[in-house]
Amino acid sequence: MTDRIETFINSAAGKKVLGALGVNAPRELTRYNSKQRSFFSGRLLLGAGDNAALLANISAILAESDAEVLGDSNARLQCSALTANTLADASYAALVFDASGMRNALELVQAYRFFNANIRKLAPGGRIVILGRPHLAASDAEQAATQRALEGLSRSLAKEVGARGSTAQLITVAEGAENDFGSSLRFLLSPKSAYITGQVIAVSAVQQSGNVDWHKPLAGKTALVTGASRGIGEAIAETLARDGATVIGVDVAQMEQDLSKVMSRVEGQPLIADITASDAPAKIAAAAKKAGGIDLVVHNAGVTRDKTIANMTEQQWQMTLDINLAAAQRITRELLDQGLIRNGGSIVGVSSMNGIGGQRGQTNYAASKAGVIGYVDFMKNDENLLAHNISVNAVAPGFIETAMTAAIPLFTRMFGRRLNSLSQGGQPVDVAEAIAFFGNPLSRGVTGNTLRVCGQSWFGA
Ligand code: NAD
Repeated sequence: MTDRIETFINSAAGKKVLGALGVNAPRELTRYNSKQRSFFSGRLLLGAGDNAALLANISAILAESDAEVLGDSNARLQCSALTANTLADASYAALVFDASGMRNALELVQAYRFFNANIRKLAPGGRIVILGRPHLAASDAEQAATQRALEGLSRSLAKEVGARGSTAQLITVAEGAENDFGSSLRFLLSPKSAYITGQVIAVSAVQQSGNVDWHKPLAGKTALVTGASRGIGEAIAETLARDGATVIGVDVAQMEQDLSKVMSRVEGQPLIADITASDAPAKIAAAAKKAGGIDLVVHNAGVTRDKTIANMTEQQWQMTLDINLAAAQRITRELLDQGLIRNGGSIVGVSSMNGIGGQRGQTNYAASKAGVIGYVDFMKNDENLLAHNISVNAVAPGFIETAMTAAIPLFTRMFGRRLNSLSQGGQPVDVAEAIAFFGNPLSRGVTGNTLRVCGQSWFGA
């Protein structure tokens, strides 16, 4: 049955039906491998609107890559160091546009001109990044509207380029954060963000310094990952270890064998604990203390207990809320109370696109995952976190190929994985890369963000 549906989807007739719905044949996405010398290689065209404030910073970041950077005429007028774009018929691996200076709706035509002239030249698997300012920090309503307009522009560009496996995003850079958006730009230009598109990353001003090795950004760091024995948690453990972190992986007793296997592969440390048990926060805190503190806490453990609310038992409701939301809060609280999250550390929650858009049969799950977003929204202003330069963010995965999604009914699964701009499901590593990006010491300005890893899913939009 599965094969027949896949065969239909991949047949000429199937492609026609899906094409009419805006669903394209999936294009294989390039993901990170350690042989790539830098975060980006290839030709990149940098454009700018008037009064662009970030061009020098963008150029400095790109100078550390293997990019051949060309400037359009407006960008070169404002940043003389840029090389002229004399390649009328060239193709580009990325288009980057600095819109930070735009104050008025009619100035947006500068962005229109840049993309109108160049978007056909974006190579398959290409990247678009627009840089703007947070609209709520604008000095007047016209500027706020103009900056917010960039979100609609970038999300729509993502829909236009997704069929070719390309992505488009917006980074909003707060005043004073001009030196803090490097990790975000690198991540979005790199293959590490392959399944992320149509998203906004907000960067605020923060004290951070130093360099990190692009291939080992978490060297010397310790990460705690719950639900680490399989699926997304396993990929998180592998990715954080690949990036240099020592991982403490937590899972329930029934998963002990799987957890041990994963932990021995990543040279990490298994910790058996049901996160909802009353002694779990103390047990986890004791392990954190023994490790000398934790730099990155990842609350990944989660369950679904799907039923429409009329058919759902209270136990199914309460268990889902406890594992997915309340337990993570108790553990974070204990670690913070005992001062076990190191200065410059990071807390990451795992939400879901269904926590954003809701889902039939998932009132409990969606409530818990929306709660994760609320927690992050609130905690970004927590004085204790601010004082210790600790960031708090969430990832919101869409359709990721794991045991959890393999359990979704056949038809929903077959079509569900395709209903996004990239027309495919994501891999666990895609979620893990986003978490590693939050954990990067140079991402401290990235806090209070919920980043969807969903290929710009049509759900929860
Ligand atoms: P999974 O079921 O494969 O893995 C979840 C892990 O959490 C398991 O190892 C499980 O044993 C562990 N766990 C469950 N209850 C626990 C408890 N009380 N204490 C300790 N560990 C516990 O799921 P997955 O697909 O890898 O999902 C991981 C996270 O990503 C979850 O929070 C899930 O809600 C979220 N998510 C997944 C998808 C997806 O498409 N797979 C989409 C959105 C969000």
